[in-house]
Amino acid sequence: MRRQHIERVTVRAPAKLNLHLSVGRRRPDGFHDLTTVFHAVGLYDEVDAVRADALTVTVSGEGADQVPTDRDNLAMRAAALLGMETGHEPVVALTIRKSIPVAGGCAGGSADAAAALVACDALWGTGLGRDDLLALATRLGSDVPFSLHGGTALGTGRGEQLTPVLGHGAYSWVLALADGGLATSEVYAELDRQRDSGPVGVVSDASAVLSALRRGDAAALGHVLGNDLQAAAVALRPSLRALLDTGKDLGALGGIVSGSGPTVAFLARNEEHAVGLAAALAGQRVCRAVRRADGPAHGARVVELA
Ligand code: ATP
Repeated sequence: MRRQHIERVTVRAPAKLNLHLSVGRRRPDGFHDLTTVFHAVGLYDEVDAVRADALTVTVSGEGADQVPTDRDNLAMRAAALLGMETGHEPVVALTIRKSIPVAGGCAGGSADAAAALVACDALWGTGLGRDDLLALATRLGSDVPFSLHGGTALGTGRGEQLTPVLGHGAYSWVLALADGGLATSEVYAELDRQRDSGPVGVVSDASAVLSALRRGDAAALGHVLGNDLQAAAVALRPSLRALLDTGKDLGALGGIVSGSGPTVAFLARNEEHAVGLAAALAGQRVCRAVRRADGPAHGARVVELA
């Protein structure tokens, strides 16, 4: 059978939350070992890859003006890496439509990188397998493998070593988007500073989160959400404390800063509860915008070929 000639591929990749994030001490190389429970939610960036004579990127949507359009763009770096590794000239016109907040702790850049990998892989027909793509994803950034993987997964190392988490049920989240982002490196530096200046509470191990997920118990999950970066994010952005308190007061099962923040995720009992919670939060003016998203969501995948 003759293979269809493809001119354009559209891929959708999800935002991630960290339902649990424990951060080890700073290593001599400056990195931190992590144990995290990643959870993909249905807030997606879309990336088009179209045949072209040069490698270009254009960005629109949520926070587009803060996203680089040169070789620092993670989607461009993904296309360049895939081309180099597979012997395809890395020329492609990438168009990113962002819904995931930029520098929001939801791995938007990683989602775009994963989407570009999947899109260019399909456009060029590289023949790479899933494991090959995951290996390239690891070279692009710690969160990129999970953006490919999706669902719910335990991440270790720097977050790039993934084990799928088997769970039941779906979860309804309300995401509170903040004005402006937080640089991940600054949040880690603040955590190191806090730890150097005295004892700091740490989240317990991931077992309570994994157990709640296994049972599909949203109420239990809401109680045990935990993130070692939260105190550092709140120290850098004190308004997050009031936001977290407001979500709880409005009846969320739990609330947590996602990754390095400043996005805060609130867990609702079900979809109907999430609709009410989102409206109530929006009315309180404690954040810039509110989005609803269900999890677990699929990883980066093709939604259209032309
Ligand atoms: P993480 O949770 O993985 O630490 P984040 O969600 O806090 O990341 P991102 O939205 O991934 O943050 O963006 C981090 C930085 O990466 C941005 O400040 C931006 O300058 C840069 N960046 C590069 N490429 C992209 C892209 N395609 N989309 C968004 N940011 C990008």
